[in-house]
Amino acid sequence: MRVPFGSLLVLICACSTVSSPRSAGHQASEEVAALAFDGRARRVDVTDRHGARGPRALVVIAHPDDETAFAGTLYKWTTHLDGVVDVLVLTNGEGGFKYATLAERIYGVELTDESIGRAHLPAIRQHELVEATRVLGVQSVTFLAERDHRYTTDLDEVLGADARVWDLERVRRELAAALQRERYDCVFALRPTPTTHAHHQAATRLAREAVLSLEPARRPALLIGNMTAASDAPIAGDGAALPAPEFSFDRLQRFGFQEKLDYRIVVNWEIAEHKSQGTMQLALGRGEREEFALWGGESDETRAKVRELFARLAEPQFEAKTYGASAGTNAGSTQ
Ligand SMILES: [Zn+2]
Repeated sequence: MRVPFGSLLVLICACSTVSSPRSAGHQASEEVAALAFDGRARRVDVTDRHGARGPRALVVIAHPDDETAFAGTLYKWTTHLDGVVDVLVLTNGEGGFKYATLAERIYGVELTDESIGRAHLPAIRQHELVEATRVLGVQSVTFLAERDHRYTTDLDEVLGADARVWDLERVRRELAAALQRERYDCVFALRPTPTTHAHHQAATRLAREAVLSLEPARRPALLIGNMTAASDAPIAGDGAALPAPEFSFDRLQRFGFQEKLDYRIVVNWEIAEHKSQGTMQLALGRGEREEFALWGGESDETRAKVRELFARLAEPQFEAKTYGASAGTNAGSTQ
């Protein structure tokens, strides 16, 4: 057990006495307490999706908050497509203590001290991920609680023959079990660009291994994605290693009165739940597209199905309403 029970009690007390928009009060305290973990894989039910008839997706990520890269896609997947999303997160992100300055008041502990941060962040970040994924209508989060040891881009440090950061045998077993339990249409993971965090690259590579170990007819489509801004250069393919993006979700799809709303709003809500992650908060309102490539040797038939799903993710979702003078508009105006 990585969070001593006594420490957790301190955390609970702090949560119940410090004001914050979402985490103040008994409910949040009980949720944090309920998320205390013993280091073993555990699944937390987030949103009841019984009866959902849409496509099913598994999101495989290294850290709580990696899912923000495709938060718009996941939101519309569960709402417009009536789909189901489960999240599997390999670590509890306790390495994210460095930028937790502003969260210290919320949680009542000196999270920016490495030893204190590493002791408390597992429960905090589990709690934050559950609240964030609740915004997206995610069905469940499975925490594998592997170690978030440090930032590195050296993939060998995590997946090499001598790597001991994660219990790789266990992670492979859990991924295989997740893909056996549910028949997913798609698996989402971060694009494993070599210059990015090795944990991100490793999580995606392990997800790919698990997908490819299934019989071809039973394999979900593996979508590797990331968030891009309009000012970014287009993502180039890297030969056979990493294909260029083929599908995209536009966060700027407009809806609501005078078409003044777009999907950046729910992405912002999702990001805002990760309060312990200070630099992540600076991503609010940033990024217009979520771009994806297929990376599991998909058949033409699977590719066509994915194309159809992304076409549906580009459909209008909300009906325009007409307001009268009582709403402060010209009678009958939708403008
Ligand atoms: Zn990450």
